[in-house]
Amino acid sequence: MNIWDFVGNTPMVQLSDKIYAKLETYNPTGSIKDRPISYIVNKAILSGEIKSGTTLVEATSGNTGISLSALGAKLGLNVLIIMPRNMSEERKRMMKSFGAKLEYVGDSDFKAAIDLRNEICKQDGFWSPKQFENQQNIECHESSTAVEIIDYANSKNLDFKNFVSGAGTGGTIMGVARACKKRSLDTSIHLVVPDEKIHNIQGIGDGSDYLVDRNLVSEVHVVTSEEATERAQRFAKQSGVLIGISAAANILVSERLEKRTASGNIFTVVCDRGERYLSYF
Ligand code: PMP
Repeated sequence: MNIWDFVGNTPMVQLSDKIYAKLETYNPTGSIKDRPISYIVNKAILSGEIKSGTTLVEATSGNTGISLSALGAKLGLNVLIIMPRNMSEERKRMMKSFGAKLEYVGDSDFKAAIDLRNEICKQDGFWSPKQFENQQNIECHESSTAVEIIDYANSKNLDFKNFVSGAGTGGTIMGVARACKKRSLDTSIHLVVPDEKIHNIQGIGDGSDYLVDRNLVSEVHVVTSEEATERAQRFAKQSGVLIGISAAANILVSERLEKRTASGNIFTVVCDRGERYLSYF
């Protein structure tokens, strides 16, 4: 059995007249991070960087950790996840279920998590996908997520006018931005950012822009943790689909954009499932 054959090619649903959302919840572990993690790990296996006995390590707010822990379990490799202590309990338990070891740093302190990861890689020879620095993260979204959205829009004769996404590493938004630019598409790239420094929109706004090139971003939209959490809860009640908080932030910004006259079609991503945030709802 290999559930990793089913990464990507996720469904697209129409949420309103102009809003289309790609359900990344349909990836094997329920989030968009299955894409870059399987992409980067597979390349490292092929190049011989990952061998039997290699320990995988990463700094993560959660979904990358869940993907890496699940893939590590499938490959029979040990996994060490370094994360800020205030990430959701459900996410931590998921990683532990896959047999990963967890190490914590201070609340929302991604810099400390990345520094510790680098130290461990150097000292112990562990292998890391280095999601915050690795261009393969962007490459993966450029060649999969973006192509799937562009193909969908073409197949339905829809103009790809707007793309709305938050950024954790920035892999998703940069992959789509680059794919649009290379094809000379007139797509506005909308970056969703949390309002607060310490916030509950887990997975985005991790303290730095990392892979994001702000020159490729058309507009920045601010969302509070309260607005995003309320939208996720309302979405569940309206549609019977439990989505994550960053997905709800994307939908909220898409709805704000739709209210503008002549906004054109809006594409966004539902980054992960809501079950991992039940303690916030
Ligand atoms: N939402 C959630 C829930 C995530 O886990 C992530 C990944 N950190 C993102 C959005 C942002 O994705 P990216 O790392 O590609 O910017």
